Order: sequence, then C-alpha cells, then structure tokens
Amino acid sequence: MHGKLLTRLSTALKSSPSISHCKTCPTSVALQQRYYSADAEADLVVIGSGPGGYVAAIKAAQLGLKTVCVEKEETLGGTCLNVGCIPSKALLNNSHYYHMAKHDFKNRGIEVPSVTLNLEKFMEAKSNAVKALTGGIVHLFKSNKVQLVKGHGKITGKNEVTALKPDGSSQKVKTKNIMIATGSEVTPFPGIQIDEETIVSSTGALKLSKIPEKLVVIGAGVIGLELGSVWGRLGTKVTAVEFLTSIGGVGIDSEVAKTFQRVLTKQGMQFKLGTKVTGAQKTSSGIVIDVENAKDASKKEKLEADVLLVCVGRRPYTVNLGLEEIGIERDEKGRIPVNNKFQTVIPNIYAIGDCIHGPMLAHKAEDEGIVCVEGILGGPVHIDYNCVPSVIYTHPEVAWVGRSEEDLKRDNIAYKVGKFPFAANSRAKTNNDTDGFVKVLADKHTDAILGVHIIGPSAGELIAEAVLGLEYGASAEDIARTCHAHPTCSEAVREATLAAYCGKAINFG
Ligand SMILES: Cc1cc2nc3c(=O)[nH]c(=O)nc-3n(C[C@H](O)[C@H](O)[C@H](O)COP(=O)(O)OP(=O)(O)OC[C@H]3O[C@@H](n4cnc5c(N)ncnc54)[C@H](O)[C@@H]3O)c2cc1C
Repeated sequence: MHGKLLTRLSTALKSSPSISHCKTCPTSVALQQRYYSADAEADLVVIGSGPGGYVAAIKAAQLGLKTVCVEKEETLGGTCLNVGCIPSKALLNNSHYYHMAKHDFKNRGIEVPSVTLNLEKFMEAKSNAVKALTGGIVHLFKSNKVQLVKGHGKITGKNEVTALKPDGSSQKVKTKNIMIATGSEVTPFPGIQIDEETIVSSTGALKLSKIPEKLVVIGAGVIGLELGSVWGRLGTKVTAVEFLTSIGGVGIDSEVAKTFQRVLTKQGMQFKLGTKVTGAQKTSSGIVIDVENAKDASKKEKLEADVLLVCVGRRPYTVNLGLEEIGIERDEKGRIPVNNKFQTVIPNIYAIGDCIHGPMLAHKAEDEGIVCVEGILGGPVHIDYNCVPSVIYTHPEVAWVGRSEEDLKRDNIAYKVGKFPFAANSRAKTNNDTDGFVKVLADKHTDAILGVHIIGPSAGELIAEAVLGLEYGASAEDIARTCHAHPTCSEAVREATLAAYCGKAINFG
C-alpha cells in the first residue's frame, strides 16, 4: 500500500485552511454550520437532484455552505432513483426470485405447486422502493439544511439561478457558486418515435402493463441487457439487436463478453450481432422492425415484436439551462467541458455527473459531486477514472474495474493473467450457481493489479475489493495474501490473484 489516500487527505488539510480538523473525517463535516434566511445569497446553488446533485448539496451543507438545490421534477433523486438504477434493480431482483421459484426451486427440493406472477404487485414493489428512497432525500435535505427550490433552473447570470415554476412564476437565487448536475436523457433513435407504450425507452420498459410475448431490444449494452433479462425471466421471448459484434457495452473484457453472451443465450435471450436496425413500423398486430447486416446491407430481415425497446444510450441534458447566454459551450457530444476541478469556462460555475465527460454512472456522479464541493472549499480535487467500477446486474452479474486485456494489448503493456472459475469455488458450488469466472490482469514486471473482470454470482459486490486494491496500488500478491472467509465467492477473487501472482491457484487444476 503506497498511502495514496493518506497523501490526498494530508494535502487536503494543508491546502484548505478553511476546513478544520475532525477526528473521524478530516476532509469533511466538522465545520461550524452556518444557516441563512431563505432570501440571503447562497454559497452554492446545485441544479439537479440526481445522485450527483443531491450528494453534492448535502456534502456542501455539511461543510458549512449555504446550499440550495433546484429540481424541476416532482420527486428528487434524478434518473437513478426514479427511472434508472433503483427501479431497474428492483425489477431485476424480483424477476430473479420469480424465475428461481418457477424453474429452479424444484431442483433444490423446494416444491411450490403453482407459481404465478401478479404484475401489478410486482410493479408496486418497485414503486415502493423508489418512493422510500426519493422520500429519503427529502428527509436528508431537511436534516442537513439544504434548501430545496422546485422549478426548472436556468442560469441567468454568473451569480444567479432562476427557478422557473410550473405555474409560470419564477424565483431568483443569488449565489457565489453554481453546480450544474442536470444529468442525461434517453438518446432517440432516428426515425423511430418512442410512445412509452409499445415503442419504449428504458423508462417505459420499467412499467409495462402487460408481459410482452416478444420484445426486441435495440442495443445489447448494459441497460438493454438488464431490462431484456427482466422481461425474459417473466416469460417474454427477447431478441437483442446490436450493431457491434459483442455484447455488454464499452469497457467490457472480450473474454467476459463471450461468456456473458453464452450464458444469456442459455437463459433464452437471442442475439443479432453485427446488425443494424434501419426502421420500425407499427402494424395492427404489433411492430415490424427492419434490420440489415452491418457489413452487407443486402442481407435484410424483418423482426416482429409486440414491444420494441430502444436502448442506444443516453445523452447529456442541458435544455434551457442558459448556457449559450452565459457563454458556456458544449462539446460534440453535448457535454459541458470542465477542467480538473470541474470548473466550466466560468470559474464559479461547475458541472458534474452525466452532463460532463466520463462514464454515465451514479457512483461516478456522486464522487464528482463530493470532490467538487471539497475543491470549492480549497481541498484537492482528484478522481481516478480508472478506479470507477462498472456493473451489469443480470444473473450472473458482470463487473469490472481498470483495464481490459484489449486495452493492455493496444497500449503495449506487458501483463499476466490469473483466472479462476466459479465452478471450482466451494460457495458457488454449494449454491449451484457456478457460471462465470474471475480474471485478474497484473503487470508482468511489478505484479501491480491493472484490471479485474468478474462474471459470476455477486460480481457487483466482489468487485469492491478489486477497486480498493487498484485505488491503493495493490499487487496481485497483496490480495492473494489477504485472508478471505470460507466458504465465500470472494475466495475466487483471491484464487485468481494467486494465479496471477505465482502462476497457479490452490483449489484448481
Ligand atoms: C434504466 C437505467 C438503469 C441504470 N442503472 C444504473 C446502475 O445500476 N448503476 C449506475 O451507476 N448507473 C445506472 N444508471 C445511470 C445513472 O442513472 C446515471 O448515471 C445517474 O443518474 C447520473 O446522475 P446525475 O446526478 O448526473 O444525473 P441525473 O440522475 O440524470 O439527475 C439529473 C437531475 O437534474 C434535474 N434537472 C435537469 N435539468 C434541470 C434544470 N434545468 N433545472 C432543475 N432540475 C434539472 C433532472 O430532473 C434530474 O432530477 C442507469 C440509468 C438508467 C436509465
């Protein structure tokens, strides 16, 4: 361990005389709280209450800044809590239970005479999870003294945000600093009109009122595969059409992607890779989707579905934010350019989360929000994007952090590989849940961990150890020599690091 984090903390303290010491958390809280009347100038106005914005607002208030958060939607929490991470994970979890009860329990000696799905209740469970969590932010805002202003936030001056209210009125808030955390929206597919009933985006796919017989998903990336899995488990015949020749989206290791495709195919999902969607028409009986081979346009086909899910990504959302008027330009992808302190071209206006560069992930937005606020108070601003994990919450889960084997080959970095299959892991075997493996990529000369890729049970939880290792510059040996509880799936991570470090795992081969 090279003490990377400690260095960061002590730099924070040295460079930030305004942050006083706190025994448990040197860079955070511990400042005298300052409260202002609602009309006084704010220290910080955060536009948007998604995971980036709400976390930043709470952090800022905890650090003593008079903080206002402007949100245009009725509920707080942004994409993540309302139409993203949380509802999708509720449906994934419960559809997995249903699938297990219907198809797997009997192999485990659990006999349930008839398993049926009540779609209304199933959706209600999802809505309850969303309600509990979005309501939780209201409570957190109150207890941390973040002032919430409902309305569409528009930057109307270097030090002014105007909240445009649904009733046509407006409220001006004067402020020292502004943070744009307005997130992203669904990328439309040219020529295909989304109605959120039969031609849906991820938002509509989270609340279908009937289980479709056939679902075609355009895009075999993270969200398409997660939502395809949900409906597939409930009995829908799912076909994913993907322009690329592999599944899983950006950054996935190709060996993992191949295993992932094989496992999902075994579960009943069908794939049309290297295939381009050229149009879709509604007919009296459903939707006809025109596709053609991405390399040979003469190879055309028509697919039929009763629901078409358009899942080709998300784009930054900066509508009517006042950027043009104030002189903040966007890049070719619609993102707001920022420097390494998240400052836009106007130094007291910051931007974080999905509306800037980097992966569109909730935890990335949160981390940016926190360090950006610390930076406003004079602390160091540092995020290592190589240490931001990615997770696909299918079953088995897929998770990775750091570099893929393809990255290392492309960059000519000498590496070694340690792999361990869950089929040889005692816990996975006990649970009869053995699809997948752990793959560790380490520097050939120094043994430093460069990337960890997992497909298997609880991969999204297991990856945390690899993230910590990578953040602290651990070697494969460091993890291999760390005691792991038995029997756990985490032993597969240890075995893979052992294989990377000394060429052989203990419990395999
Ligand atoms: C189906 C789905 C599943 C996902 N699953 C995951 C997952 O499992 N894990 C993960 O890490 N990520 C996941 N994501 C991505 C994740 O939701 C986003 O990366 C994350 O929400 C980005 O946070 P943010 O704060 O930048 O923006 P957002 O969450 O988009 O929040 C932006 C907020 O700003 C508000 N806003 C915008 N403009 C204005 C304005 N002018 N005035 C006032 N308010 C405004 C919006 O109403 C919104 O509330 C998923 C996304 C989808 C669609």
